[in-house]
Amino acid sequence: MYRIIVAIDGFSSCGKSTTARKVAENLGYAYVDTGAMYRAVTLYFLGHHVTPTNPKEVSAALAGISITFRRNPHNQANETFLNGLNVESEIRKMHISEQVSQVSAIPEVRKAMVAQQQLMGRAKGLVMDGRDIGSVVFPKAELKVFMTADPLIRAQRRQAELLAKGEMVELQEILENLQKRDLLDTTRTESPLVRAEDAILLDNSFLTFGEQVDLVTGWADTRIARLSRLEEIHRKNL
Ligand code: C5P
Repeated sequence: MYRIIVAIDGFSSCGKSTTARKVAENLGYAYVDTGAMYRAVTLYFLGHHVTPTNPKEVSAALAGISITFRRNPHNQANETFLNGLNVESEIRKMHISEQVSQVSAIPEVRKAMVAQQQLMGRAKGLVMDGRDIGSVVFPKAELKVFMTADPLIRAQRRQAELLAKGEMVELQEILENLQKRDLLDTTRTESPLVRAEDAILLDNSFLTFGEQVDLVTGWADTRIARLSRLEEIHRKNL
């Protein structure tokens, strides 16, 4: 079977990661959450008092950062490790969400993360979610999806997620954080969040989780089948 790259981009908190993880599981592909990588860098920068406007400090810090993902055998979750330490729950907290868009706008940070992400996709068979996957990281991805949803619905979902982890945050605070991040992400000079021309728009405001997963898995299956057929024809004609 032909192996493809599925690039899922979109606004903050519209379910990209959960959808991408499930689609990857359905396809038997690897999954990479690039937001987690930018969150881990942010955690490191905060902990080491790195000045984001000082390129020398930023480059030195990046050289000391190793981000990896490991599967938790208890819940099958893909967890984020920063220099060997499990930071999965720390990077999801509000103090990281408040700083991550500033850190991810730093050109040196983007360059380092994009290079790592491209390495992860060398063998294809990958679902990756973020903001610039279809536009910058894998502009030739075989399937690109751009996810969006009503901001209030996104804030409600995020609040429920945080609550499930024991963090009670006002809806208004979450809504403002989402809108601020969306604005920073779409207006930054370096790899802004844009819908790639060939990305399929998926507004999941009124879709169940199962429905959106089925849609994306179906699109992926169609592309895989078509590309496999083309590959077969090409092989026969050689
Ligand atoms: O996806 P998540 O909300 O965890 O991403 C956190 C932040 O990381 C985003 O708001 C965005 O600023 C940044 N990000 C990015 N490029 C990506 C993934 C995330 O700039 N590919």
